[in-house]
Amino acid sequence: KNEWKEQIAELLGESKLLLDTASLEKYSKDYYWYSPILEPKLKHKLAEGIVLASNEQEVNQVLTYAYSQKIPVTVRGAGTGNYGQAVPLEGGIVLDVSGLDKVVEIGDGYVRVQCGMKMGVLEKKVREQGQELRMYPSTFVKATIGGFISGGSGGIGSISWGTLWDDNVLEAIVYTMEENPQRLVIRGAELHNYIHNYGTTGILTEVVIRLCPSKEWVQSIVSFESLEDSLHFAHALAHNETIPKRLLTPMEWPIPSFFVPLAKHLKPGAHVVFLETEDGTLPSLTLFAAKYKGRVSHVIEAAFYHKVLGLSDFTWNHTTLWALKAEPTITYIQAGFSPENFISQMQQIKAEYGDEVLLHFEWMRSGVRIVPGSIPLIRFTNEARLYEIIRFFESIGVSVSDPHVWTLKGGAAGKLNNMQKKKLENDPLGLLNPGKIAVEI
Ligand code: FAD
Repeated sequence: KNEWKEQIAELLGESKLLLDTASLEKYSKDYYWYSPILEPKLKHKLAEGIVLASNEQEVNQVLTYAYSQKIPVTVRGAGTGNYGQAVPLEGGIVLDVSGLDKVVEIGDGYVRVQCGMKMGVLEKKVREQGQELRMYPSTFVKATIGGFISGGSGGIGSISWGTLWDDNVLEAIVYTMEENPQRLVIRGAELHNYIHNYGTTGILTEVVIRLCPSKEWVQSIVSFESLEDSLHFAHALAHNETIPKRLLTPMEWPIPSFFVPLAKHLKPGAHVVFLETEDGTLPSLTLFAAKYKGRVSHVIEAAFYHKVLGLSDFTWNHTTLWALKAEPTITYIQAGFSPENFISQMQQIKAEYGDEVLLHFEWMRSGVRIVPGSIPLIRFTNEARLYEIIRFFESIGVSVSDPHVWTLKGGAAGKLNNMQKKKLENDPLGLLNPGKIAVEI
């Protein structure tokens, strides 16, 4: 059984193979423990060996060898996914590709980059050239571009540029899991078989993503006495094209009470909207907020953007992180509110569940629409109650993408059928991250 480890060490060098218990445990986990349902199911899953690849050739060598021995391979970026996407359900190899971290080319409106590059570093590099990422997750400091494309959805910037499915990815170099792995160059609609694929249909080694001209961003908190007012404001601002923005996040009180580092800037009882808007927009933003009984209560000047803890460090699924620090039993779901009826949906949820469900929203573009996405916090008691809440959301027209399962789902995964077909083609033995996509091999 240990023969394959010797072979891998011989192929790539001993330093590229980690076998100690601490490494096996560290590299076999992601942030699945945000879910009290996934936590007990995944905590004992362990890889048999961690392989560190730092170029395409090494990826190719590992895949070729693993195929010949029928060893499962689970690819990993930074391991910040929330649904156990990067957890090796059937042991085998965890292939860490964070060593593929070079920028290949920065062009006008795009960057070609290796998949293991951290998004925070990438953003810095492209900003030095007068451009910026169209969007990135709140985990950008750690998360890799390949991990985001293969396991994420959207983030800061999605209010203007939409999600991974909105033409933000231009090309991917993909390795298949076959006797002789193919190096595919994927573009256009075919990319949908690889975006949010959890590394099941192929392994990305290099991608081309779109960039936009960089702006200077000022961060602000607008405070409200009523949650309704804050949501009306957010909706109107989302549709206001004269104030360019990167982040638009309303949060109901008491969520801000979880944000310990911001405590002195947050008034107890106030509902807030966290914003990133273009530098120079504060005067018009102040007037705009006043129309909805909102007050700009805290500002972080553009000079400090990405230099100190930013407001985006409290948004998207980082909100759950701060909540968990304050109340370890909190968990979350992922929801899509109706752009027309979100106020009434919010009122029905509050009437039914009170402070058992705490709402925060991410206004974002999705296709041609601007929609209120949400990652509500749930004060978890038991699984049955959690699914009762999910069913209530669905019964009032709020869609839910369940984050308490590790398998790819139709909604977030685009066309799951096509992905299943692609899986059979590219990975005929079902060795890539087994157990994450429902296909009969
Ligand atoms: P990993 O966790 O390492 O991998 C994710 C999935 O992709 C796994 O299935 C892995 O097998 C696969 N994969 C990794 N690299 C490759 C590759 N090269 N080729 C093929 N498959 C690959 N997500 C968002 O979309 N938006 C957010 O704002 C956001 N906020 C978050 C906040 C917190 C606090 C946390 C814990 C998570 C958040 N996430 C968010 C989820 C996650 O951080 C992101 O999706 C992140 O981009 C994943 O990147 P990673 O490098 O950590 O990927």
